[in-house]
Amino acid sequence: MSDVRNVIVIGGGPAGYTAALYTARANLSPLVIEGFNWGGQLMITSDVENYPGYADGVLGPTMMQDFRRQAERFGAEFLTDDVTRVDFSERPFRVLVGDDEYLADSVIVATGATARQLGLESEARLQGRGVSYCATCDASFFRDKVVVVVGGGDSAMEEATFIARFASKVYLVHRREEFRASPIMVDRARADEKIELVLNKTVVEVLGDLKVTGVRLRDTVTGEESELETDGFFVAIGHDPNTALFLDQLDHEEETGYLTTRGKTTETNIPGVFAAGDVQDHVYRQAVTAAGSGCAAALDAERFLAAERQRRSTVPAA
Ligand code: NAP
Repeated sequence: MSDVRNVIVIGGGPAGYTAALYTARANLSPLVIEGFNWGGQLMITSDVENYPGYADGVLGPTMMQDFRRQAERFGAEFLTDDVTRVDFSERPFRVLVGDDEYLADSVIVATGATARQLGLESEARLQGRGVSYCATCDASFFRDKVVVVVGGGDSAMEEATFIARFASKVYLVHRREEFRASPIMVDRARADEKIELVLNKTVVEVLGDLKVTGVRLRDTVTGEESELETDGFFVAIGHDPNTALFLDQLDHEEETGYLTTRGKTTETNIPGVFAAGDVQDHVYRQAVTAAGSGCAAALDAERFLAAERQRRSTVPAA
């Protein structure tokens, strides 16, 4: 049986590391179970130019190392492994990593979300070399260049419209003729003269050795293949929150699986369990908003623990 920790942070992205930094500086000695793939979505980006404080930009992985180092400096402890099960039914809460059990009076869930990928080998190979999952982050690298966006939902419409402010031409490739996106978003994309809709096509290969030079398409009706030259390839087919471990215990949006939190707080339906970052936010999804949310979760956890301490000291044990 392990000691009972004040706080366990699950997840090693901007939200998790910021929660770790704040709880460490509050003398709560957090244990961060950061996952094998710590760093989250920033590990598959290249330059981050929109995180305040990095005036010259920073590589995503470098930024995550900086976040981690800063939390470590104040005593956060890290376990580079994946949580396999949680039990929030009673306190202390139980967090399991295989057969090892960790106990804590509070837990901050910051497991993030994962951008859906097409699953092509060429897509994985060219990530950060022209393949991107975030227009807000990377659109400005494609000033006066040609870009392909894939997807047919609101994200794809929004990203194509945003990228068109920079690029000389945007091909919006969608596998059907009808869009899942709301009509107003489709109309906006259609009205943009830089955007050309390429319908009934799937991307079967991203072309290029060291950087993206084009995509190979297959017509979903005729099966015919064709190529488009492009400098950038944005995959905008949605995100999935990493919430499978929690769905049976924490309230979440039925359709999407995103965890729900109360009002402006990071409180979940279980007192003492908090959720921060992209795991509970499908609207903003930025490193800076995730970090802010991690800070809020740390403050919420700190207040919760202080109130519990007070309660325990005033209520005589039964
Ligand atoms: P989404 O609505 O799930 O749409 C995903 C799109 O990607 C669909 O068109 C889908 O095609 C396509 N797709 C999925 N897998 C694919 C694959 N393997 N190959 C090719 N295409 C694939 O996701 P989303 O656009 O990210 O939106 C998620 C939620 O956020 C929605 O509720 C949306 O309204 C909301 N959102 C709102 C705004 C806004 O209001 N400003 C902006 C962004 C997102 P099919 O249609 O053929 O399945």
